[in-house]
Amino acid sequence: MPMPRPRSQQAFERALRAIPGGVNSPARAFGAVGGQPIFIDRGDGPFLVDIDGHRYLDYVGSWGPLILGHRHPRVVQAVEDALHKGATFGAPTELETELAELIIALVPSIEMVRMVSSGTEAAMSALRLARGFTGRDVIVKFAGCYHGHVDSLLVQAGSSATTHGVPTSPGVPRNCTADTLVLRFNDPQGLVDAFRLHGERIAGVIVEPVAGNMGLVPPSADFLTELRRQTERYGALLIYDEVMTGFRLALGGAQALFGQKPDLTVLGKIVGGGLPVGAYGGRADIMKHVMPAGPVFQAGTLSGNPLAMAAGLATLRELRDHPPYARLEELGRRLADGLREAAAHLPHHLQRVGSMWTLFFTAAPVVDYDTARLADTARFARFFWGMMDRGIYLPCSQFEAAFLSTAHSDEHIAATIDAAREVLAAEK
Ligand SMILES: *Cc1c(COP(=O)(O)O)cnc(C)c1O
Repeated sequence: MPMPRPRSQQAFERALRAIPGGVNSPARAFGAVGGQPIFIDRGDGPFLVDIDGHRYLDYVGSWGPLILGHRHPRVVQAVEDALHKGATFGAPTELETELAELIIALVPSIEMVRMVSSGTEAAMSALRLARGFTGRDVIVKFAGCYHGHVDSLLVQAGSSATTHGVPTSPGVPRNCTADTLVLRFNDPQGLVDAFRLHGERIAGVIVEPVAGNMGLVPPSADFLTELRRQTERYGALLIYDEVMTGFRLALGGAQALFGQKPDLTVLGKIVGGGLPVGAYGGRADIMKHVMPAGPVFQAGTLSGNPLAMAAGLATLRELRDHPPYARLEELGRRLADGLREAAAHLPHHLQRVGSMWTLFFTAAPVVDYDTARLADTARFARFFWGMMDRGIYLPCSQFEAAFLSTAHSDEHIAATIDAAREVLAAEK
């Protein structure tokens, strides 16, 4: 039986009159699965409570930041303490240095770091720095990877191995994407070919080391190795976008997990502990090109905001003091095994790295954007709503990663598997 959600329905109708599409970020509108979004009253550990009073087990975690679940006491306390001192000063505080030092201590390749207010801003700033540092213009990205709504990175996947980018959104001038090369994820040969043709003009390569924005797609070892080899050979910078993977797959992010060393790293989500934070960092000789140490301009009125720094610090300290990664791996493995069993009679691929996962409804393994797009999105939409009506909140698109948090327990995993078995039993 579908859950009635009259208050959410009313709230959405009201929001539609005041806010484009009723939401402040498009993924929230449930467009990919049809129907209307639920409006949230509060979070509680692993749960969301909507304004109709329904409780859901949350596998979205605000799209990644909430690795400690909702309202972790240490984070709440830190933000309260900071708030009582003042919300913003536009002048340095020691909190900023403390968070910078902690990031440097935890992420192997980061020697210096600059705070901004979103992942988008961090990616945009890292690209400007890569171009300013190398004196080159061309940026390489991979189809299906998302780096925020940066003009130059809003480019579609080309079906051929190498295509000059065409803007995905109206409002992005062709000029903005003319220097963006879009390659296939997990295709080392495509990378070699692109560098042979354009290597001397490439400022940087930006990549999600584990892709989470086309659903969860792990990298091949060859792909990661070739990324480092080609960028080094041609003097281009390797930029890991760890907005999603940073502090999630390991304390040191995907780069620590795979033993890789990018030149620059883009951070967001967990680093802000649920408040708006992004950061970019890396080799000190590169970071010293950022103004006022160097000539590459980048600024922000609320950058290093004390409330956000406090939330980020509390989150990273909790992860450092009580690393949850072995436990999250175990929970993830159990959940994945259970979901595979529940989907055994259907074409499917459960893909997972640590606490990030996607159940793809497709027969072939998903290795890049083209194989991801073979998934049965109509089946996913039915699965999504079936789970919603059983109190399980999943990302509302086949092409998004789901997340576990430290607030999830064995019991929650078992309940999720039971719900999936029920929902998928109706599929043939
Ligand atoms: C979420 C995300 C971004 C954008 O971060 P925002 O804070 O939403 O601007 C960039 N890169 C990756 C990999 C992301 O997952």
